[in-house]
Amino acid sequence: MPGASEQLAVDGVLAKRIRLFETRPSQQEMAAEIEAVIDRGGALIAESGTGTGKTFAYLVPVIQSGRRAILSTATKTLQDQLFDRDLPLVREALDLPLQVARLKGRSNYLCLYRYKTNGMEVFKMGAAMRSDFDQIRQWSAFTPSGDIGEVDDIAEDSRVWPMVTSTLDNCLGGKCPDVEKCWVIQARKEAMNADLVVINHHLFFADLNLKEEGFGQLLPGAEVVVFDEAHRLPGIAQDFVGEGVTGYQFYELAKDLRVEERREKSGVEGMIGAADKLEKAAADLRLSLGRESRRGALADIEGDQEFQKAVNRLSEALIHFTGLLEAAAPVGDGLERCYQRAHSLRERFHLILDRDSIESVRWFETTPRSFSLRMTPLDIGTTYRKLIASDDRAWLFTSATLSINGDFSLYQERMGLEEAMTALWQSPFDYQSQALLYLPEGLPEPRISGYTELAIEAIIPVLKATAGRAFILFTSYCALDIAHEVLEGEIDHPLLVQGSAPRGELLEQFRKAGDAVLLGTSSFWEGIDVRGEALSCVVIDKLPFAVPDEPVLRGRMAALEAEGRNPFFELQVPEAAITLKQGAGRLIRDASDRGVLMICDPRLVTKGYGKTFL
Ligand code: SF4
Repeated sequence: MPGASEQLAVDGVLAKRIRLFETRPSQQEMAAEIEAVIDRGGALIAESGTGTGKTFAYLVPVIQSGRRAILSTATKTLQDQLFDRDLPLVREALDLPLQVARLKGRSNYLCLYRYKTNGMEVFKMGAAMRSDFDQIRQWSAFTPSGDIGEVDDIAEDSRVWPMVTSTLDNCLGGKCPDVEKCWVIQARKEAMNADLVVINHHLFFADLNLKEEGFGQLLPGAEVVVFDEAHRLPGIAQDFVGEGVTGYQFYELAKDLRVEERREKSGVEGMIGAADKLEKAAADLRLSLGRESRRGALADIEGDQEFQKAVNRLSEALIHFTGLLEAAAPVGDGLERCYQRAHSLRERFHLILDRDSIESVRWFETTPRSFSLRMTPLDIGTTYRKLIASDDRAWLFTSATLSINGDFSLYQERMGLEEAMTALWQSPFDYQSQALLYLPEGLPEPRISGYTELAIEAIIPVLKATAGRAFILFTSYCALDIAHEVLEGEIDHPLLVQGSAPRGELLEQFRKAGDAVLLGTSSFWEGIDVRGEALSCVVIDKLPFAVPDEPVLRGRMAALEAEGRNPFFELQVPEAAITLKQGAGRLIRDASDRGVLMICDPRLVTKGYGKTFL
């Protein structure tokens, strides 16, 4: 069989069988390198500039190798795109027998047991919930996979979903009366039997961290593991490794206990009352953290009396509840599972609140209804170091943004991949002739009050010159709101603003309008592909330094300082440079694209570190 590089050549099988396939030398080189890594094992960190065609560059050697493989992408949308679009194209072109499967986290599948047992509870929760539940009933009769992504008409954040899907905590596993027909188990079986499984990074970390069955069984059988959009791994890992509890875990436990107590009738006096108290104490803890959604270090709020009182009340309620449940557990499997959840919740809750450690950061986050308390190790690289050192399979980490001017050390250190090989393929685009970089003169430093208004003044003439067709990417919602206010009425082009409609819808409107201006923050800095003239200008309001009081970043900075290192130059500047590269990368997506990149922040030229960004 020809090698991967030959398959991707002008006269290769992909050119013959895929319409509009373009041969790219950098793609061929990358495919050959990946093929070699698959043969000899080890880890490769591969940066491939926009337009290299990295997806085909790894799909061809992975499929041709005939080895069992796991492909992981950053989001469920990218996972579906890879599984439904790119993978079938390459598989058919290569014409090789290959069994493939897509596996998502368990919360993406209907849980038959919870769907049946929570029916009564849902019907008490109002007309909207009843209507959602009704749709699920109709869909559940015909679904081929139990994947709730097939249900379009129910909002992603509907309260019905947690009631008809499972978590590791509330799944009854082998003791479940519906285990034979369980969708989660079926999806995992299919994945176990497949040659190639497409997952997402969240699933990888969730299962790795929870040591849950499923992926834990999948990984040992895989000979090749590919992480696409690998620049997202550190951020996602940070939210999964370590320990955590959430308000929802308390609310759900209390709710499930009431259902199981009604079903299994333990007869333990005060059981329902204890569940009510637990739920209320968790809700009170949420209230003690203030109304707005925020994130911060636990150490900063532990002196707050309201918070401390709420913590103590929740701790007492949890201890009392777990004590009663211990007596109720032998009555039935449902109550037994509730007891195990309560016990584990109690352990984690006290671990996070009681222990301070220089190796981890304890932090909190609030949403309108819930809270999270987490303990995150500062060195997330341990996970990979252990995994990779312990086996001889091939690991590929790929993305368009992993290095800073060819230096991968920040990524390697963060991910524990110091021993990995690195490689870089530049974008085949001719940025010199396709793009123009504009750095406006005369703007003050962003810390000066009124900076955003002045930056917008400088942006308006550019928008007029490009006839709209622009993304303006902000580093904060506050700046986005100011720009929205100033630009409305100032420009004669459709103004699309993040938050006014779902991201996909805004992008669709942007493409259709052909002269729109889109204002966005972080979620628009990456993973967006608008080709052609509709996007001819990308404006960046300021250098995207992470918020320095973000608790995990603060912990990492303190750890570097303790080692006598400089966190600003070794951490903040390089991470911001990678984010800037992502944002700027939205502009040129095709060999025929042309456009202007405007970066307003004067620090790019006035500060010594500015050259790291250019
Ligand atoms: S085994 Fe778990 S996920 Fe499957 S139906 Fe039963 S409770 Fe739900």
